[in-house]
Amino acid sequence: MKYNIAVVPGDGIGPEVVAEALKVLDRVGEKFGHEFNYTKVLAGGCAIDEVGEPLPEESLKICKENDAVLLGAVGGWKWDDLPGDQRPEKALLGLRKGLALFANLRPALLFDELADACPLKKEIVDGGLDLVVVRELTGGIYFGEKGRKQTDMGEAAYDIEIYSEEEIERIAEVAFDMAMKRGKKVTSVDKANVLESSRLWRSVVMKVAEKYPEVELNHLYVDNAVMQIIRDPKQFDVIVTSNMFGDILSDGASQVTGSIGMLPSASLAKGNFGMYEPVHGSAPDLAGTGKANPMATILSVAMMLRYSFDLSEEADAIENAVKKVLADKYRTPDIMLNEKDPDACKLIGTKEAGDLITANI
Ligand code: NAD
Repeated sequence: MKYNIAVVPGDGIGPEVVAEALKVLDRVGEKFGHEFNYTKVLAGGCAIDEVGEPLPEESLKICKENDAVLLGAVGGWKWDDLPGDQRPEKALLGLRKGLALFANLRPALLFDELADACPLKKEIVDGGLDLVVVRELTGGIYFGEKGRKQTDMGEAAYDIEIYSEEEIERIAEVAFDMAMKRGKKVTSVDKANVLESSRLWRSVVMKVAEKYPEVELNHLYVDNAVMQIIRDPKQFDVIVTSNMFGDILSDGASQVTGSIGMLPSASLAKGNFGMYEPVHGSAPDLAGTGKANPMATILSVAMMLRYSFDLSEEADAIENAVKKVLADKYRTPDIMLNEKDPDACKLIGTKEAGDLITANI
C-alpha cells in the first residue's frame, strides 16, 4: 500500500526527532511492503524566518492533500519576543483548526522497564499501565463566548462552556471505537452534578454507548477522576472528556509515565485523517546536542499506523522495538534513571536510539 504523509519538522529538536521517526517508518515500509511518501512542510519559527508567517497557506494546503501529518515541534527562544498572534505556536492552532482536528488522543503508557520513573508506588502500577485520554479539542469553554463587563462589584470576566449534541456524539464515537480496539472500557468524565453542559454530555455519551454493547461504560465527576488516576490508574482503559477537563487530566495522567520524551499524541479529524506529534515542545535547551529522546515521535508514528492507516501489526512492531531497546537497557539522558550505577544502563543519543529501534523492527 502507498501512504502520503505531510511532515512538519518545525524547530529546535523537531527536525532531529522527526528524522529518527522517518528512519523507523522506512524500515516498517521495507519489512511489511508499504510505500511511505513524505512531503516536507514549512511551519513554525522556521516559516517565520523564511516567509514571514508561522503557517503559510501553502503549508496547510499540503497537509490537507496528504493522508496524515507528522509534526515535530514548533517554537523557541528566538521568536519569544514576537506578539502572540505572530508566534510559531500559532501554526499549531492553525493546523488544528484548518484540519478540523476535533479529537486529541494522549496515551499514558508505562513501560515495565521504566517503572522506576513513575512517581506512584510500585504496587499501584505493578503489571504496567496503559490508558488513553480522548479529549475534545475544538469546543467547550476554550472556544465559547468570552468577554468582560462592568458590574456593581467591579469588572467581571466570563468564558462560556458550550457543547452541542453533535460535538459530544462524534468525540464519544472516537472513544468507543478506540475502546473496541483496546480493553473495551470507556470512562466518561464530567461535572454533571453541577454543570448543565455536563448533563447533556452524559446523556449523549449514554446514547452513543447503546451502539457499542461490548464496551463497558462508567461515569466519573472530574474531581473524583483526578483522585482515581493517582489512587488506581490501572482501572482505566479509555477516558473521554471535554476540552478543559481533558487538558488537565491528560497532563496529570501522562506524569505517571516518567519522561515527556516518551509521550506520543494524535489529533484526529472525521474519517481516518490525523496529525501525530510528540507531547513535548521544541526543547531549545537540547537542540543540536544530539541528546533528545526521539521515542515520543517514534511512538507517534506507531499511532499514525494504527489510527490513520489501520496497520495494527506494523504499529505493534514499532512499540515492541521501543520496548526491546529499553529492555536491552539503552537509555537517552532523560530516562537514564540509575545515575548512581551508570553501568546498569547504556547511555545513547538521538541517532543511536533511532538506529537501535530501526534495527529491532
Ligand atoms: P519542552 O517540552 O520543549 O521542554 C520541557 C523540558 O523537557 C525541557 O527541559 C526539555 O529539555 C525536556 N524535553 C522536551 N522534549 C524532550 C525530549 N524529546 N527528550 C528529552 N528531553 C526533552 O517545553 P518548553 O520548554 O515549555 O517549550 C519550549 C518551546 O516549545 C516553546 O517555544 C514552546 O512554546 C514550544 N512548545 C511547542 C509544542 C509543540 O510544538 N507541540 C508543545 C509545547 C511547547
